[in-house]
Formats: sequence, structure tokens, C-alpha cells
Amino acid sequence: MLIAGPLGIGKRLLADRLAGLLLCGADHVEARPCGVCRECVLLRAGHHPDQLLLAPEAEAASAEIRAEQVRQLCARETLTPTRGSVKVLTLVPADAMNPFAANSLLKTLEEPVASTVWVLVTEQPQRLSQTIRSRCQRVSLPVPADSVALPWLEARLAEQAKAHVPHAAHCLALAHGAPFRALALATTEALALRQRLVDDIVGVARGEHDPIAVANAWQRLEASAVLGAMIDWLTDLLRVSVDPTMASVIHRDARRALNALAERIEPAAGHRLLQQLLQARAVVEAPINKQLLFEALLVRWARLTWMRA
Ligand SMILES: [Zn+2]
Repeated sequence: MLIAGPLGIGKRLLADRLAGLLLCGADHVEARPCGVCRECVLLRAGHHPDQLLLAPEAEAASAEIRAEQVRQLCARETLTPTRGSVKVLTLVPADAMNPFAANSLLKTLEEPVASTVWVLVTEQPQRLSQTIRSRCQRVSLPVPADSVALPWLEARLAEQAKAHVPHAAHCLALAHGAPFRALALATTEALALRQRLVDDIVGVARGEHDPIAVANAWQRLEASAVLGAMIDWLTDLLRVSVDPTMASVIHRDARRALNALAERIEPAAGHRLLQQLLQARAVVEAPINKQLLFEALLVRWARLTWMRA
């Protein structure tokens, strides 16, 4: 099975629930595992021998799933399930498999063992080969409607009773509607970091901050967080440059700043920078010189916004 969908919508939770349903020892299992049988207790403790998880090794330099890991799993997989009648093998994220690993997996999928269930979890199914995809039953999870996600998020935040509960709708918008991502954003330093990035981006556009100095300060940050913030901000800017009253913007709290900047940009140049940012995000997993990358992007951003000032 291939579970696909954007970051933070609960793909892993679904994979774990599926394993729970398959492995639960209760007589009548319906929507959820019983939670009390020996199998469920082992699963919850993460010690069930028939549920195996394959992910990139934490200490490895690359964030890849290596062929050796897949081969080991496939060798163990040929064993019959230890306790029940089925073995569940989960790969997260499946697109982290390097080509050799994918090849090893394909060999196994070509001669499937009836008692094993493979669950591949990915945000980027297009990065898996067509041959692997064609051998999986695909479950594409959509981003839930805000009318479903927002009450859920508000309830989780209330449960955690944070002294400082940020605005749930704002977090959900920043998370592109993905509820788990919004929850992570609301309950970690990520929200403050995001605000700081937006302040830097707007400061550079207004000529208040020096792009080179900001690029230097950004070096210590996760490249994906920086690029995500720039992409979201520029996307909003291009949206309001088409229609200043557009409702579907991510930074609803910064509409005045957006509208003011939108009057100063050339949309075609904005789209070119957006393309460049998207390309940068695509290569961001590869080792890069962050200073040079951020400098190049921020200098372009500064030029773009100073164009008609
Ligand atoms: Zn059970």
C-alpha cells in the first residue's frame, strides 16, 4: 500500500492505525484496534516483532534509506510472522530510498509474500519509480477542509493548555491547512521563528535590513524553513498583486504589508524569483553553501521590491 499526501496531515498515524488493525488479537476489530490485548500492548510499546519500521538512519550523514537496510528487512521478511498471521513493514518516508534500495524493494514486491503487508508512506509519490507505484494500492490523503481541521486543532491546543495559545486559524493557514503540521507549529519555537523570518523578509524589501547581513544571520537556520517562509510570502504577494482583496492568503495577519509591497513589484519578475526559490527548495537536501544561496535569493528579492520604489 502507498499512503501519499502533504506534510502534517496524519499519513504516519494512518499507517500505524492500519498496522494496529492488522495485528490486534481481539475477535471483533472494527474501526480501531482494541488497545488492551497482548498484541496491542506490544504495539504501543513499539516492541511488536511483526511490525517493522524502516526509516533513514538517524546517525547517517545522508537522509537516505540504503539498499543494505532494505535487504536486511527483506531477509527478515521472508521469515513467517512471529506471533500472528501477518507482518507489517512500514517505510517512512518511502521516497528516501536511494535507487539501489528501491531496486531491492522492487525485487521483493515482484514476488510478494502473502503474509506480509508493505506500507509505503510519502509526501512525494512522484519520486518513487513507476514500477514501485504500480505495484502498490494507492491511498491519497487530501488536506482536510478548514471546517474539519480547525475545531480539531483548537481542541488539541486546549488539551495541552498552553499558557500562550497562538491563534489556531493563523497556524493552520501557515501550515497550508495540514492539522498536524499546524499543531507542531503552534506548540514549538517554529512559530516565533516564522515571524522572525517574515520580519526579515519585509525589512529587506523596505530597505531597512541589509540582504547580506540577513543572509549571514540565516546561516544558522534550517534552509527548508527559510525557503518555506520566502516562498509563502512571495506567493501571497503575487496573489494580492492580482487582487488586493484576495481571501486565500497565508499571511492574513499581514495584509497591509502585503498590499503595500504588492504595488511595488513587477509580477513577471516575482514569478521568476518564485521559480528560483522552488528550485532551491528542490536541491536543499543536497549539501549547499547556504550563505551564497541566501545571498543570491535575498539580493534578488531586494532588487525586486526596490524596482519601483
Ligand atoms: Zn488488540
